[in-house]
This record gives sequence, C-alpha cells and structure tokens, in this order.
Amino acid sequence: MSILVMKFGGTSVANLDRIARAAKRVAREVANGHRVIVIVSAMSGRTNELVGWVEETAPLYDAREYDTVVSSGEQVTAGLMALRLQEMDICARSWLGWQVPVLTTSDHAAARITDIPTENILAKFDEDMQVAVVAGFQGLGADGRITTLGRGGSDTTAVAFAAAFDAVRCDIYTDVDGVYTTDPRLTDKARRLDRIAFEEMLELASLGAKVLQTRSVELAMRYKVRLRVLSSFEEYDPRAGTLVCDEEDIVEQNVVSGVAYQRDEAKMTLISVADRPGIAAAIFVPLAEAGVNVDMIVQNISEEGRTDMTFSCPVNQVARARKAMESARDAGAINFHDLVADTEVAKVSVVGIGMRSQSGVAAKMFRVLAQEGINIKVITTSEIKISVLIDRKYMELAVQALHDAFELEKPGSAA
Ligand code: ADP
Ligand code: ASP
Ligand code: MG
Repeated sequence: MSILVMKFGGTSVANLDRIARAAKRVAREVANGHRVIVIVSAMSGRTNELVGWVEETAPLYDAREYDTVVSSGEQVTAGLMALRLQEMDICARSWLGWQVPVLTTSDHAAARITDIPTENILAKFDEDMQVAVVAGFQGLGADGRITTLGRGGSDTTAVAFAAAFDAVRCDIYTDVDGVYTTDPRLTDKARRLDRIAFEEMLELASLGAKVLQTRSVELAMRYKVRLRVLSSFEEYDPRAGTLVCDEEDIVEQNVVSGVAYQRDEAKMTLISVADRPGIAAAIFVPLAEAGVNVDMIVQNISEEGRTDMTFSCPVNQVARARKAMESARDAGAINFHDLVADTEVAKVSVVGIGMRSQSGVAAKMFRVLAQEGINIKVITTSEIKISVLIDRKYMELAVQALHDAFELEKPGSAA
C-alpha cells in the first residue's frame, strides 16, 4: 500500500469552495492508487481569532486551556473535509489527535510529538477507508489533555505522519507555489527555488520564514521524508513546487540563498545587574520557566561589578518576561536598576550554506544596511546565517536591500 501525505494550510481550506478544491486534489491522488492521509489546518484567520479570545480573557493564560480553545479550529476543517470527500464517493474518515493517537509531551502550546502509533489508521485502510483526514496541530499530551504543537504546527503533524507511515512523499499545499529566496509578499523580486537543502530550510524557518514550521523541517531531515511545498491554487503539475532535499542534490547554489525576517520582536535590557558567576542562569532560567523564548543575548562590558544584560524575545512575551524578572528580583535571586523594553524591533537574517566556504558575507551585510542608514542593535551569527536586530520600520527596506545586494533574483552558478 503506498501512502501519500497531503497537508492543506489555512488559506487552502479557508471556506467551503476551497475545501472542495482541495478535496479534488485528494481525489486525484486516490485515483492514482494512493491511500491518502490528509492533514488539515484551521480555516485561515481562525486560530488567530481563537488566540485573541484566550488573550483577552486571561493575558497570562493557563496553557492547558489555551490548547483546549485553539485546537478547535482543526476539528471543524477535518470534519468538513471528510464530509466533502464522502460526497465525492470517497471513503473518508476524520481523526482528531487523541483518536489516532498523536502522542505528545505535555508542554502545552509547544508540545512535541513523541509517537504516532499507526495501527488504528492502518486497520481502517485495510478495511475500506481510502482517506484519513487528520486534524493538524493537535495531539494527546502525556498528561491526558489536548495539546498543540506551536503556531504553524500542522506542517509538523504532516511530516511526522509521513515518517510514521513511511509515506512516499509529504506534499505541503499552501498559498505560495514553493519556497522563495525571501517572502514573496515583501518583494516581487523574490525567486522560487526548485530545491532547497534541509539545513538552509531549517535556518530560514527558524529565522521567521513561516512557509514551514521549523520542527517539521527537523523531522523531515532526520527521517528522510521527501518534502515538497506547492500551491493549492495552481493547476496540477507533478513537478511543481519546491523540493526540500539533501545538500548533495542541489545543483545551483548562491553564497546566500535566502533572506528571512521576524517582524514582532522585542529587545529587553536589564540595566545594572550584579556581574557575578551565575547571573546569566539567575536571569535566563526563570525566563525559560515562564515560557519566554529568548533568542539573542548580549552582555555588555562590566563596570564596577555591574553590567547590562540585553536579550530579545517575541513582542507578545514581554509581559511574561517582565513578570518573571520582577518575581526573581522580589525573591532576591537578582537585582537590577531598571528593565527597559524596546517593542519596535525586528530581526532580519541572511542564510546560505555557501557561507561556510566564503568569508565577507557579514561585512557585506553590514555595509548594505549602513548604506540604507539602518542602525544595527544586536548581531548574532552561526556557520550558515547572520542575523541583526533593527528598528521594525526599516525591516522591509532591509530585506529588499539585502535581496538586491546578494543578487538573489538570479539563479546561482553550478555548485
Ligand atoms: P499555511 O496556512 O498554508 O500554513 P503560512 O501562512 O503558514 O501558510 O505560510 C505561507 C506563507 O509563508 C506565504 O504566504 C509567505 O507569505 C510566507 N513566507 C515567508 N517566507 C517565505 C519564503 N521564503 N518562501 C515562501 N513563502 C514564505
Ligand atoms: N492553525 C494553526 C496555526 O495557525 C496550525 C497551522 O495552521 O499549521 O498556527
Ligand atoms: Mg503554516
């Protein structure tokens, strides 16, 4: 039995017409002889609405109840998709996370899949089921409650199913026709890539390119899943989209292959903390425990035993971070003079495997930003990426200038 995984994102199931359209694609793959596992997202905008309701009700919400609320969007589309397929005489059944079951950790709102037992679905495929429609993004936590996998988590559901069921391919249908050199919404010079290496996709995703959730790329890389990103709006073409693959399978390569951004960042600075062994742990352990995703960290020069500690985190976690730091101060674990939050920053990053063998990329990036008069607030680098924190109002400009300077609209030379 050949199993194919097809994932439809929010815009691809945004209304009943779109669901019908997606169902037609599923029907074609059924006719091609596959058993299909369809993973659906919530209708576009629905998860944001649910998150908004939770935040309005309880700004520092209990994550277990957050999961109860925000997982509901996928339940609706899973049922509707199954009904639509049944109307087309296809034997389809919906599956919620707990029914499969998709077993996860109990890290609510950011759970990780630990196992997907395949027996229940395989037994139904052995009977007469042709399509299993699975609600993406949700699972059954070790604590027995519904969990969610973090925003964009349906991508991870899809790849995890492809790995568990040894699927021939995992097709991610979305509102763009593949992975681009940068978000095509930011510049029309963005170019679609026929192929991208797992490692580059992993960096782009973790640096903000939300076309794939980071964890989905990690899983695809680990379990060698054939992962393809393609549009659910265009006419069917079996070679369409972008294939995420091993580095060895890439024929053309630029030094920089993509530019990513994260719009809603905040920069927080603890002014005048005692500079002593253990101070970083005293700050960052409580932040982690409060569920704050700290990204960049800079410790400034220490004078007379005091230092400033700067870190970045998503802007919607500033209140949590502030509360965690104030509690740590009240408990006597740290002391600081002030906590200053700059909530008007964004992160822009360039990514490319080619950076491993070519120097000068950072220097060029800084020069380009300087020429545009953009001030850099924080810098971090790794082997294949450079990230800067800048004022949010310059984010688009920075992405476009870097895309131009690294000539990403042109295909690279043969690697
Ligand atoms: P879905 O609802 O299908 O999961 P998402 O909105 O999560 O779709 O992801 C698709 C979006 O990702 C695109 O509409 C695009 O704006 C954005 N995006 C960001 N960076 C990139 C990139 N490098 N290539 C393609 N799309 C990107
Ligand atoms: N509906 C969820 C979200 O918007 C999961 C997903 O679409 O991947 O984050
Ligand atoms: Mg998505």
